[in-house]
Amino acid sequence: MITVSGNNTFEEKQACCGCGACAEICPAGCIRMEADAEGFLYPCVDADRCIGCGLCEKHCPVTAAGADEPFPQEGYIVQILDEEVRRQSTAGGAFTAIARHVLQQGGVVFGAAYTEGFKVRHVGVDREEELWRFRNSKYVQSETAQAFKEAGQYLQQGRYVCFSGTPCQIEGLLNYLSGKYRGGRQRPETEGAGEKDRKAPECRDGIFEKLVTVDVVCHAVPSPLVFEKYVRMQKKRFGDRMASILFREKHFGYKYSTMTVRDGEGRDLYAHGIDTDPMLRAFFSDVCDRPSCYACRFKKRYRRSDFTIWDCYTVYQFDPRMDDDRGTTRVLVHSEKGREVFAQIRESLRWSAVEPDALTAGVREMFHSVEVSGRREAFMRDAAVLGGRALFQKWFPEDWKVRAERTARNVLVRTGLYSGAKKMLFRIRSGRK
Ligand SMILES: Cc1cc2nc3c(=O)[nH]c(=O)nc-3n(C[C@H](O)[C@H](O)[C@H](O)COP(=O)(O)OP(=O)(O)OC[C@H]3O[C@@H](n4cnc5c(N)ncnc54)[C@H](O)[C@@H]3O)c2cc1C
Repeated sequence: MITVSGNNTFEEKQACCGCGACAEICPAGCIRMEADAEGFLYPCVDADRCIGCGLCEKHCPVTAAGADEPFPQEGYIVQILDEEVRRQSTAGGAFTAIARHVLQQGGVVFGAAYTEGFKVRHVGVDREEELWRFRNSKYVQSETAQAFKEAGQYLQQGRYVCFSGTPCQIEGLLNYLSGKYRGGRQRPETEGAGEKDRKAPECRDGIFEKLVTVDVVCHAVPSPLVFEKYVRMQKKRFGDRMASILFREKHFGYKYSTMTVRDGEGRDLYAHGIDTDPMLRAFFSDVCDRPSCYACRFKKRYRRSDFTIWDCYTVYQFDPRMDDDRGTTRVLVHSEKGREVFAQIRESLRWSAVEPDALTAGVREMFHSVEVSGRREAFMRDAAVLGGRALFQKWFPEDWKVRAERTARNVLVRTGLYSGAKKMLFRIRSGRK
């Protein structure tokens, strides 16, 4: 197991996804998750208290990551019928539909939410009014903290639990629950079956019976330290008026991701897109991702979760009637439990069935890790010492190109020409007349 020592190499750090399963499973309680100079959490072991049981390594999702072995799946593109929820969601609001179903069974839903000072952490909620906290992807690594343990406790009490997160977090949770409640058995046996008969590695019995897991197709997770610098920079600009930060607001429509800062009344204070907002530019330049994201062990199609959800920009390929630029989620159902849940939530959705092969074809982020940017080392070195304004101005400056791009976009929006121009550009870029 890699432990934070202050001088780990980048390659060593690639072996830890920071899920915290090791710290939660440790019977001696001798593992703490501590942030390194880049702001990413790594296990820190108190060697004097370690009993050498090896449970931490055994339940590490990176060490135990399985192969991409086929089993039957179902594919859908979906839009939640509740338009206000769809507007607040990153894509089509599939996650909220699944979460609502679990709440209706008296369950608890876990996901990534802002906590004090815009720190992103996994928390659990059991009221519909709180589900908004999970909507809208936060492009920064979320701290799972106590969430694995809490989820296990709710399951033990017989309550339904929906747990959402990145693929490494879901594998970490499943390994933790296996170790804690099943005497260390990590995954149900599927070996030996022919490919045709092979089933998804179902997690149905015992503690898993009422657990519904949802993972996202994940580009990578950026550094919490870099996001903290961004938050401080925006705070200096907007002061106490800054009440929310949305990475994927649909200010310019679904197909153009926009970072939006809002005040307490829900008014936009700032809305800049992927070409002009420095945090989004840093995210899509791969200069500040977690080291393990550059060698991600969870880039695969066949997963242990019940659902995998991700964006669908090319809706017209699957169902042109749903192409309204308000957000659509692709949903890949991996398990029988997932199929049962989907059957129950169908009524709350506009949906179209899509062959899983077609749904996943060409989805780069599902199969390939991001590449380490040649600028990463220098950027992260600066991130450790510079303030937000200086950092972003140095690496993602507001030059004439950025200003021209923003002005053009705003003029098109004000003159009502934006939607048509965007559609044309999108079709040209994706090779469709
Ligand atoms: C870090 C990250 C990278 C992503 N990369 C891609 C990509 O490259 N391509 C793609 O098509 N889709 C990607 N997605 C998925 C996409 O952004 C949407 O989450 C997905 O389309 C579901 O949208 P929705 O409207 O159904 O859900 P929403 O209602 O928007 O729900 C968002 C869900 O994501 C979870 N979540 C939000 N932030 C985090 C976080 N920081 N860590 C863990 N879980 C989080 C919430 O708990 C919730 O379950 C990514 C998501 C995240 C969080």
